[in-house]
Amino acid sequence: MTLTPVAPLPEHEVKVRAPGKVNLSLRVGPREDDGYHAVSTIFQAVSVFEEVVATSSEHRTLSVSGPQAELVPTDGTNLALRAADLLAEHAGVDDGVHLHLTKGVPVAGGMAGGSADAAATLVACDALWRTGLSRDDLLELAAQLGSDVPFSLAGHTAVGSGRGHLLTAALSRGEFHWAFAVQDRGLSTAAVYAAYDDLHGGAVPPDPEDDVPLMQALRAGDPRALGAALHNDLQMAALELDPGLAEPLAVAQDAGALGVVVSGSGPTVAALGRSRQHALVLAAAFTASGVADRVLTASGPVAGARVVSTTD
Ligand code: ATP
Repeated sequence: MTLTPVAPLPEHEVKVRAPGKVNLSLRVGPREDDGYHAVSTIFQAVSVFEEVVATSSEHRTLSVSGPQAELVPTDGTNLALRAADLLAEHAGVDDGVHLHLTKGVPVAGGMAGGSADAAATLVACDALWRTGLSRDDLLELAAQLGSDVPFSLAGHTAVGSGRGHLLTAALSRGEFHWAFAVQDRGLSTAAVYAAYDDLHGGAVPPDPEDDVPLMQALRAGDPRALGAALHNDLQMAALELDPGLAEPLAVAQDAGALGVVVSGSGPTVAALGRSRQHALVLAAAFTASGVADRVLTASGPVAGARVVSTTD
């Protein structure tokens, strides 16, 4: 008699994708009592993705692959592991998980890569552990993890207030096409805000009226008007810490970008193209002039953290 080997039970696995972002506008107000600045920002989620695969496991562990993986901590300071711990605590589960992150978003690049990992992990573990939290519950946990995490969950286009974590969806028509000049050297968000404080001690609260032209450009799906309205109060501070960023800014302008801006706290420089084809031209200009360590093209807006596949 021959015995048929019993196939091992498939591990339960959930794969989630979450996007990076560009701040179309970032306006910084005075420092609040908690040490954070109030901001008024308009986020657009772009098609540069983090992928998180969550597999059931005895303990909570993490591994990372992709460009710049060596720069990402794999201990409890990783935002993805913190997200898993927070969800488990909130939902009262003590299950383990192995998280594998595939980095697509630049590390410490001002495009919220770590936040995307955290948002993706909340969605993945909610599915893996069948905790069944509502979108609002997940958004609340996201806000506890970091200012940009709620937007990584929500995606599309949104206005962020508070520390950027209080979101209102914004109307946007059509697709916008970007080229990104990525640097290997990251910029710490805290250092950029400290440089901002040195430059503008007495900041005044942002006036939402200032972004009316940008909101109109989004509603009209008008890339030319959007390019003209891009704005970042942190750009001077990022340039102060990394004067070399003036080069990709100038290269994109010379190549006919509709607008060019440092993304968030930098150092990634985002250049808006007239079309998908023109974004490729801008990317080629970044590459040819040697002003970026890596060049990406993407379009936006795209959806927030979403399950891509699950084993059952
Ligand atoms: P933001 O745009 O939200 O300011 P960022 O994109 O500039 O963020 P991240 O890539 O999110 O920056 O990471 C900043 C730092 O956080 C890294 O240098 C790293 O030490 C730490 N970190 C913690 N968790 C992660 C993660 N999952 N991926 C990348 N970095 C992480």
